[in-house]
Amino acid sequence: MQRLAENMFTPLPLGSIHSRRWLLAQLQTQAQGLTGHLDEFWPDVADSGWIGGRAESWERAPYWLDGLVPLAFLLQDERLIGKVHRWIDFILNHQQEDGWLGPVRDATYGYEHDPWPVSIILKALTQYQEATADPRVLPAMKRLLACLQTRITQQPLTSWAMMRSADLVLSVYWLHERTGEDWLLDLARLIQQQSYDWQAHFAHFAYQERQAQWSHEAHVVNNSMAIKQPAVWSRLTQHKQQRRASLEIIGLLDRFHGQVTGVFSGDEVLAGKNPSQGTELCAVVEYLFSLEVLLTILGEPALADRLERIAFNALPATFKPDMWAHQYDQQVNQVLCAVSEDRIYTTNGPEANLFGLAPNFGCCTANMHQGWPKYAAHLWMHTRDGGLAAISYAPCTVTTTVAGNVPVTLDVITDYPFAETIQLVVSVDRPARFPLVLHIPAWAEGATVTDANQESQPVQPGTFSRLEREWSGSVSLTLQLPMHVQAQTRYHQSIALERGPLVYALKIDEAWRQLRGEPPAADWEVFPTSPWNYALAVDRVSPEPSCRVLFHEFTSSPFASEQAPVSLNVQGKQIPAWTLERNAAGSLPESPVTSTQPLEALMLIPYGCTSLRVTEFPVLS
Ligand SMILES: [Zn+2]
Repeated sequence: MQRLAENMFTPLPLGSIHSRRWLLAQLQTQAQGLTGHLDEFWPDVADSGWIGGRAESWERAPYWLDGLVPLAFLLQDERLIGKVHRWIDFILNHQQEDGWLGPVRDATYGYEHDPWPVSIILKALTQYQEATADPRVLPAMKRLLACLQTRITQQPLTSWAMMRSADLVLSVYWLHERTGEDWLLDLARLIQQQSYDWQAHFAHFAYQERQAQWSHEAHVVNNSMAIKQPAVWSRLTQHKQQRRASLEIIGLLDRFHGQVTGVFSGDEVLAGKNPSQGTELCAVVEYLFSLEVLLTILGEPALADRLERIAFNALPATFKPDMWAHQYDQQVNQVLCAVSEDRIYTTNGPEANLFGLAPNFGCCTANMHQGWPKYAAHLWMHTRDGGLAAISYAPCTVTTTVAGNVPVTLDVITDYPFAETIQLVVSVDRPARFPLVLHIPAWAEGATVTDANQESQPVQPGTFSRLEREWSGSVSLTLQLPMHVQAQTRYHQSIALERGPLVYALKIDEAWRQLRGEPPAADWEVFPTSPWNYALAVDRVSPEPSCRVLFHEFTSSPFASEQAPVSLNVQGKQIPAWTLERNAAGSLPESPVTSTQPLEALMLIPYGCTSLRVTEFPVLS
C-alpha cells in the first residue's frame, strides 16, 4: 500500500470539542442567524438543484452545507441536525447511475460534470461521516471519485476546478486514509498533474501591484485557497520544498497585499496594501480553512498565530452581530458603507461593502458559514505521539482519548482573546503519560505555565511548547499570555495598534439605514456620525505609555461594538485634509503629520467589534 506523509497534528473527529462561553454564544447566534435559516427563503439554497429544485445548482448549496454540517454537530442542535439529514439523505439517495453526485450541470455556472461543486460537497460529507459514522458515505464517495477519475481522464480540470483542486485532493486523501485503496492516490496524482501550479506562480510572482483586470490568477479567493496547495501536494510527493512553499506564499501575499488583520486585499482581485481596499468574505473563511489544513500538515506555530489573528479580527468584523447580514468586502479603514457608483475597488460593484443578505454577489452568502464552526472544531488536535495540541484558546471542553486509548476531558476556561489568563483542567480516567503541546503566540513575551503547586515555568513565545508528564485524576494548569500594546508600521508609514491577538480600531458612531429587504434579512448602509480622520499621538517604538487599556463588562456578545470588553484609550488630532475620496477614506497621509487641531481623547476597540473604523492611522510628529 502506498502511504501519505504523516501529518504533524490530526484534527479530532467532529463533535469532540464543545464550545463554551463566548464561543458557544457565537455559534448559537450563527444558528439563529442566516446559517440556520438560509434554506427556508433564499432561492439559491431553498430551490437548489442539489435538493431537486431549479435555482442555482452549482456551488451555493454545497457551500452552505460545508458550514451547516459542523455547526449542527458542534451545537448538537436537533433542528440543524434535522436539516443536515434531509439534505444529505436527498443527495445520497439521488446518486447517478454512473456515480456522479448532485446536479450534472448548472444552467449558468461551471460546465457539465464540473468537479468544483463536487469538491465542496465532499468536504461537507467527510465532516458528516465523522460526526455520524453513516455507513453510506464511504461507498458513495468511492463511486463518485471513480466516476470523476474517468471523466477527468477524458476532460481535464479547467476553470475554478483547476485553480482550487487542493480542496478536492483533501477529500481523496481522507478516503484513502480510511480505505487504504491505492487507486485513490493515483487519482490524487492525476488531479495534481492537471492543476494550476501555484508554487510556480509564486516562485515568479507577477501580481505584486494592485490589479485592474479580473483574472483567476489574481482572484482573492483563489489565492486564499491556493496557500495550502503545495503543502497538500507534499503529503503525496514527500517534497520538502513544497512544505516550505506554502509558508513562502503567505509571506509574499503579506509583502505585496497584506492587511493588518492577517488577510490580504482583493476586491475582488489583489489590490495592494492600501487599507481602504477591500477583502472578500469568502477569502477570509477560505484563508482560515487553509490555515487549519496547513497546521495539520506542517505544525508551524506561526500558522496558529495567523489563524487567531484572522478569526478574532477579520472574521467577526464583517458580520452584523446577529449574523443576519454580512459584507462582500471589508476594509481595514472602513468609514462609509454605502452604494458607491464611484468606488475604490478593483473590479467589485457599487454594493460590495454593504451589510446585507447578498451584497454584490451571492457566493459569500453561501460560503460564510464555515468560518466559525471550522475554527471551533480545530481548537485542539492530536499529536503524533498520543497527546493533545492546543491550536487556539477559545473556551471549550475537549472529550477524546490520549496515550493509546485513555479517555480524557480537557476544560479550557477563559475569556481569551479578551483576557490573558487561560485555565486548563486535564482529567483522565486512569493515569497516563502523554504530552500536552501548547501554542505560545509569538507576541506573548513573558508567558508562563503554572501548575497546581503554584510553580511557574516560562514558556517560549512563537513555539508549540511541550509539557510531557504523567497525568492522573484532575490537574489544573494556568497559562498566562501577557498582552502588551504594540504598534505595527503600515501603509504610508501609518501605525496600527494591537494587543495580543487583537487589532484595535477607532470606534466611529454609526447610523444604520435600511436599504431594502425585511429584517432580519435586510440590506443596510452604514454612515459615520462622528469624525474619523484622526492622527494618533502615539510613539510607534514604545506605544504603551500613551495607551490606557480599559476593561468593560464581559457579555455573551463580545464582538458587538457597544459591548466591547476591552478598549484602548489614546489621544489624537483631526487631519482636516484627510477626507473621503471615491466613497472611502482618502489616500492615507504619509506619516509623520502635523495638525493645528486640538488634542482629543479617542477610544479604540477591538477591530472585530467594529462596523465603521479607522485601523491604520497617520502619526503626529
Ligand atoms: Zn464570496
